[in-house]
Amino acid sequence: MTHEVVVVGAGIGGLTVSALLAAHGVDVCLLERQSRPGGCVAAFEKFGYTFDPGVGLYPLWQAGEIYDQVFSELPVAAPEVFPADPAYHVRLPDQADVPITANIEQFEAGLAAAFPECADQAVAFYQDSAVVSEALRKALRRVPNLHAAGTLRQIYALLPDLVSASRIIKSKHDTTLDHLAGTSFRFRRFIDAQLQLLAQATSQDCDYLYSSLALNIPRLGNFSILGGAPALAEKLAESIKASGGRIRCDTTALRLAYDATGQAIGVDLLSGERVTASKAIVSNLTLWDTYGKLIGLNHTPTEIRKRLNNLRTWGVYLLYLGMSETAASRIPNNRILAVTHDRDYDPESSQFMFAAAPAADTRAPEGKRAVTVLTFSDVDQWFTFQESEEQNEEKDQSELELCWRRLHQAMPELGGDIEVIDTATPRTTYDLTRRKLGMVGGLAQTFATVDLNFMNCETSLSNVFRVGDTSSMGGGIAAVTHAARLLANQLTD
Ligand SMILES: Cc1cc2nc3c(=O)[nH]c(=O)nc-3n(C[C@H](O)[C@H](O)[C@H](O)COP(=O)(O)OP(=O)(O)OC[C@H]3O[C@@H](n4cnc5c(N)ncnc54)[C@H](O)[C@@H]3O)c2cc1C
Repeated sequence: MTHEVVVVGAGIGGLTVSALLAAHGVDVCLLERQSRPGGCVAAFEKFGYTFDPGVGLYPLWQAGEIYDQVFSELPVAAPEVFPADPAYHVRLPDQADVPITANIEQFEAGLAAAFPECADQAVAFYQDSAVVSEALRKALRRVPNLHAAGTLRQIYALLPDLVSASRIIKSKHDTTLDHLAGTSFRFRRFIDAQLQLLAQATSQDCDYLYSSLALNIPRLGNFSILGGAPALAEKLAESIKASGGRIRCDTTALRLAYDATGQAIGVDLLSGERVTASKAIVSNLTLWDTYGKLIGLNHTPTEIRKRLNNLRTWGVYLLYLGMSETAASRIPNNRILAVTHDRDYDPESSQFMFAAAPAADTRAPEGKRAVTVLTFSDVDQWFTFQESEEQNEEKDQSELELCWRRLHQAMPELGGDIEVIDTATPRTTYDLTRRKLGMVGGLAQTFATVDLNFMNCETSLSNVFRVGDTSSMGGGIAAVTHAARLLANQLTD
């Protein structure tokens, strides 16, 4: 079987690029090893609940933004979305809640009340980063692949706003911590927890320009997707079919097929079949798996191999919970980022993200809401030390007990009105998506990863490309969608 473009993996990246290519008349075939598309965002169903594995942070659904751009090119309507402001509340260890809201007065008042010891500096930090974020967003509209563009294109992108341009150029090598001078330790932890969630790095390492975008974009407007992120995956799949593209589920790609000259010509499947690609092959696998599995180590340049060996990111431990409407009425927001202690910060134990389905879309039995709680987890511990399935279950159980205690300590208003439906470990993520060691959420937005120039769609092979959260600038689905659109444009130019 031959197609113009063969895409491996039906996560948001693979689905988006396939939907756009198919809509533009390209003969595209999307291969997915699971029985349904979605990857990380595929819904998890149990006991009448439908869980969105995502934590409800879905910005950039406004008119003119990335989803509007994508769906304006597709033959299907976008999933229904509705505003969800404040995007989230950050709950501090002393139980103070800071709403991360688009309402500037309310936001700044919240900062001043929560951080009286450095109110002016905290407000100034956000005001400065909002200016930088806006300038970067304008530049991204002029040059959508800004981070990977050459110097001349970057200057062109920044030119219309000279004041902000000079500020951006001056901050190019700054970490976020460089801009937190004069703020308190507590405020820095407040920023660290958000950056860990949004950029997989804390203020000490996180690139300042990226953190300006990450901290401000959700404030500009967060949305709930009716049906959660799985609904986006379903719409994209529907679009591929409507445009005449092909999705083959339950189809595992084994490795790329090469001709005698070493040119990649298609994909060999686990079943023994070969699917050839006349124009391009797109991998929606992680960076590690694209090289380690698809391209194959024999075809991977030594330099890339070395870099990948040293590159790590986080996994997640998830609680899937059922919450009664009574408890829902007692929480300040459906999305709460809890900072559980601020001394000796450690992403695994210092924070968690609580995300309840909205009242208008409970995804649960009558009187209940589906809730996903995300904690970060070092992936190695889930793969290295367990010798048997029992040991794995024991570890899962002790992690659950720990998380359950931390949840109730940080959110005492939940009381007994919440119950555990299931859990997911990095091993679950691996089983569902085959992502190396179950690592999720993209690469840390630090100079180490940005300088490696991994955040683009290219590979070492000229007709093989990448989409997904380890090729985009940022791990959220908006960034993945943006990068997938860039690739679709490149392939149809
Ligand atoms: C718990 C959690 C909460 C999150 N919350 C949010 C949020 O609130 N907001 C947000 O914007 N983002 C969120 N994210 C991030 C976001 O969901 C992911 O970054 C994004 O969905 C990743 O998409 P992807 O395109 O990289 O592909 P993936 O989702 O990794 O999909 C890759 C696909 O490839 C398939 N595959 C793998 N190997 C093969 C093979 N050999 N052959 C065929 N198919 C194969 C897999 O089965 C999978 O379907 C969250 C992530 C997690 C884990």
